[in-house]
Amino acid sequence: MAIERTFSIIKPDATKRNLTGAINAVFEKAGLRIVAQKRIRMTKEQAETFYAVHKDRPFFGELVEFMISEPVVVQVLEGENAVARHREVMGATNPANAAEGTVRKLYALSIGENSVHGSDAPETAKQEIAQFFSGNEIVG
Ligand code: UDP
Repeated sequence: MAIERTFSIIKPDATKRNLTGAINAVFEKAGLRIVAQKRIRMTKEQAETFYAVHKDRPFFGELVEFMISEPVVVQVLEGENAVARHREVMGATNPANAAEGTVRKLYALSIGENSVHGSDAPETAKQEIAQFFSGNEIVG
């Protein structure tokens, strides 16, 4: 299995509740290595660009406001099958449907305030990583 990289965000509801370390522990236990990480306050423009795929959805405005409401932690995670592995440990988008032990089951507040983001495919991961990190910030 190839070593892969994925893009992760610890979202405002989680940074606000001081859950960065607890969430990172779930990722590391799942075999994902944090090869880049920084705490930032997203600009409205960054959030709109990042979620552009959802721009026509009814929740878009609320989602953007949420993402800029508090600092977030953006990360690059590396490991075998990292994209799928990360999504597995994040759990379903709606915490009501998330499996036991997943980040969203453990910590998410609602379908919107659901603690974490993870890329949905290796190609998306490349684009998302490039939006927030330059190559020399990633130390594998
Ligand atoms: N979202 C929301 N309401 C919805 C669906 C999604 O607020 O009905 C938010 C939620 O924060 C989710 C993000 O939009 O994580 C992106 O949605 P997507 O379907 O891509 O889910 P994900 O890949 O994050 O599980």
